Amino acid sequence: MAVRLDGKALADRIKAQVREEAAALTRPPALAVVLAGDDPASQIYVRGKERDCAECGIQSRTHRLRCDEARRDLLPLIASLNQDPAVDGILVQLPLPEGLESRAVLQAIAPEKDVDCFHPLNVGRMALGEPGFRPCTPAGLLALLDAYAIPIRGRHCVILGRSNLVGRPLAQMLTARDGTVTLCHSRTEGLADLTRQADILVCAVGQAGLVTADMVREGAVVLDVAMNRTPEGRLTGDADFPAVEAKASFITPVPGGAGPMTRAMLMRNVLAAAKGGDAAC
Ligand code: NAP
Repeated sequence: MAVRLDGKALADRIKAQVREEAAALTRPPALAVVLAGDDPASQIYVRGKERDCAECGIQSRTHRLRCDEARRDLLPLIASLNQDPAVDGILVQLPLPEGLESRAVLQAIAPEKDVDCFHPLNVGRMALGEPGFRPCTPAGLLALLDAYAIPIRGRHCVILGRSNLVGRPLAQMLTARDGTVTLCHSRTEGLADLTRQADILVCAVGQAGLVTADMVREGAVVLDVAMNRTPEGRLTGDADFPAVEAKASFITPVPGGAGPMTRAMLMRNVLAAAKGGDAAC
């Protein structure tokens, strides 16, 4: 039976450390969150970020724009936040309302305030292994592996999902830590043959029940990033949790694994931005 990787407990420890370091600065770190439109899930995520900031002694200010306002005002707002010395980090909550191109919006954020690590300059730095911000979800997974002393070097890491948010940057970060990475996607052939070779299996697709126990090697580490809703409204990952838990050596629960770690890493990036240096990586 696998050990559950307790993302909630580790995230609490990281946030306590952020709070301590933030308190030692001459002024509290400040995060500007931009929420455009009325997507209900985004409203919940933004409230969560506001709570995390309060917990960490980080000032947060949420700029709410209606869809029509966003089309006119979003880019000028980002430009003024870029210039504002009292703002350390800027986060634009995705998805954006129709008619707004996320690529142009994310590129408008000053790289030194890009705490989500979406700007091409920061993505490029990460790809080159240079110091800089790291995207929150992959960084959270690496922090979990490290906290449980799970080695990466030389291990076969199989990642399901190649999004810019999770799979792609995680592949680079695991490679930088000397993991041997196989990055899978919707066109991958022989998926189960690949997953069965994984020492570390990352599920980041968004399809409940995709990963069954027969796809997992005995003793593998399973990191389930996905957040799917069952018809009853329960949150679940991509893995068939009870069956896979019985076979794995370590596994992230959903909820309580990758989710809280993502949020804690955002706080760490805001602190790093406030310190004016690069995020620890
Ligand atoms: P996404 O942009 O929709 O990407 C999904 C990826 O899965 C794509 O690369 C897709 O391949 C691949 N895929 C689809 N079907 C597949 C299959 N049968 N086998 C292998 N790969 C397949 O999703 P995302 O934004 O990365 O999010 C993935 C999941 O993680 C979602 O459930 C999301 O809610 C969750 N998430 C959680 C956190 C957290 O903090 N816990 C953070 C971010 C995301 P193609 O590229 O070929 O289309």
